[in-house]
Order: sequence, then structure tokens, then C-alpha cells
Amino acid sequence: MENKDKEHISEKFREYYSKNLSAPNAINEREFGFGWEGKIDYRHKSFSSFQEFKAFVLETVPLYMSYSIAYYDFPDRRPVEKKGYKGAELVFDIDVNEEHEGHNPILCPVCLAKAKNMALRLIEEFLIKDFGFSRREINVNFSGSKGYHIHVENEKIRELSKEQRALMSDYISGKGAGDFLLQHGKSFSGPTATSKGWKKRIFNEVLKFFSSANLSDFRKYKIQKKIAEYIIENRQKIMENLKRGEWDVFKGAKFWGAYLPLVIKKIAVDIDKPVTFDLSRLIRVPNSLHGGSSLVARITANLDEFDPLVDAVGFSSGNFIKVHALKNISLSLLNRTFELKKGEEKSIPEAAAMVLLCKNVATLKL
Ligand SMILES: [Zn+2]
Repeated sequence: MENKDKEHISEKFREYYSKNLSAPNAINEREFGFGWEGKIDYRHKSFSSFQEFKAFVLETVPLYMSYSIAYYDFPDRRPVEKKGYKGAELVFDIDVNEEHEGHNPILCPVCLAKAKNMALRLIEEFLIKDFGFSRREINVNFSGSKGYHIHVENEKIRELSKEQRALMSDYISGKGAGDFLLQHGKSFSGPTATSKGWKKRIFNEVLKFFSSANLSDFRKYKIQKKIAEYIIENRQKIMENLKRGEWDVFKGAKFWGAYLPLVIKKIAVDIDKPVTFDLSRLIRVPNSLHGGSSLVARITANLDEFDPLVDAVGFSSGNFIKVHALKNISLSLLNRTFELKKGEEKSIPEAAAMVLLCKNVATLKL
């Protein structure tokens, strides 16, 4: 990245933080990490007050800011064993970056929508329904890049061990979720309408599928044609049996072996497990800027309605800046699409220019 671009980004970030800066709760019990080149170039930093934190941020203007999910007596001591661990928030990290058809490597609306959908399912299905957390204990923020961070906080959660957190993330990601299906010789028994948790979810999904699937739906699950034809022909009878917990279908072992893992994958939430169980983890400060995108890691009270490509924009849509494209660019932002050909120079809103500069796909044209 050229120096003029770095200086511009730094100047804009400083301006942003002079007006918008927030810190996690219990600031004096947190370890902080900052990045100017990488995501965390410097850690084990602590602050005794918000004023001290703000002074540091305005003086050094980091591109990335992280804080410890843990609370410590001495957050600046090292190694971590000397910090005096006092418990930690429970955090889940969802990131989606898939090489699908039409994927946009700059900011991908399709991947972002998928990440949001997974975050909503994590909250509604697993955190609230299965684990029994209440909505006010759950805080969500955009990660600033490809997904969402979900923070859960209460006194009890602080005490959860690394092993307990690992078990929770295994559960959410569907590990062992298919083990309920029991084989007795050639016949199978499975959950019923009164089952709970994962079993209930799989039961519902299976029933929904059996009630309406046609040959091409079966093909998507890579199920042999003759098995599919048998199921379609005997649909009603099979569904009645399923509801009683008798999960017998033609060539059962083959069918469930191909079908169940894909059902589980569809229901599971793909989380970055180490973020949840690593108690010394640092995670992005909510509402801080992400130096690789210029977007705000915005806290959102209404995830359903949240659109990161509009709501996480931290810079002006009214000021225009001229940039020179370093490659072919298509950027969806602020409900518009900005197209630039490699080598093209164009005046675009500051908000869009900041994304392109931070992504290093364009340079300032002064
Ligand atoms: Zn994508």
C-alpha cells in the first residue's frame, strides 16, 4: 500500500475515533491488542480508564483493536498465567467466505447474508431455545469483515471452563448429532415428535423433506434413484412410521448414511471453535473500525434488519474522493454498486473509497 493511502486511512480513522469510540465493560480488567500492519501487532496492553484508552487510540490510531474476552486482576502482566484470571465472556464467531458462483472477494453480499442467517439461528435455536439464555444476555456485533460476533454475558457464564465451552461449540456445530439413530439388524429407530433439541430439529427436517421431496430433491442429497423412487411411492406409510420412531426405509444404512450428515450440516451453525474455548483470546472491540475493510464492527440490537453494507458504513456518503483502480472492481455499498475497471480513475463517495483503500484494490488520485 502506498504511503499516501496509509496516511489518508490513518487521518480518517483518527477523525472517526475522535467522535465515535466505545470500550468494553470493565475496561480496567481487560487486556487489549492493537494492529497497525497485522491484526494484533502488540498486546498485553491495559488501561485504567476510558480517557486513557481514548488518548492512546487518538495518538497511535490503530487499524485493528481487540480486547480480551477474559477479565483479569492484572491484564498487562505476561505470560497470561500471571494475569490473575477472573472469568470470561462466552463468545461465538461466525465467518462466511465461500468461493461460490458470483462470489465477490471485496465484500460479498451473498456470504454476508449467509453469515447473518447463521447468527440468527445460533441465537434463536441454540442459545435461547437449547441453552436457555435470555435475549438481554446476548449482544451481537458485525465483525467488520465477513461475519458476526455473538457475546453472551452473565455471572454464571464467567465461570464456564474451557472444556464446557468446547462442549457447547461441539453441540452447536452438530458433532455427534446423528448418533441418535439406532440400528437393530436391518431396522432403525429414531426420534419422534416429542423429542427435544437436535433430535427434534432433525425429526422436523426429515419429515418436511419426506412429505414433499421429488426425484431432483433426492438427487441433491446424492440418494440412489431406486431408493428415492421407493420412498416417493411409499411416502405416507414411511411418514407414519417415522412419527412413531420407526426410521425404516429401503436400504436404510445406505440412505441414512448419505442423507443424515447433510441434514445435520444444514441445521448446524459453523462457528470458529477456538474463539469460543480459548480463554485468552482477544476479539474485536465492538463498534471499532476494521482496518481491512473500513467498516464498523457495529453493535446491532436488531440483527434481522441489519445490513452491514449500509449500517456498518462509518464514513461519508456525501464527500467524494477520486481513486485509481488497481484491478477490476465491483463494490456493493449503500444500496449502490460501484464498478471500476482496472486503471480507471473515478470520483466516488468517501465511504466507498475507504473500503477500496483498506482492501488495497485502489489508490488515492490526488
Ligand atoms: Zn460470497
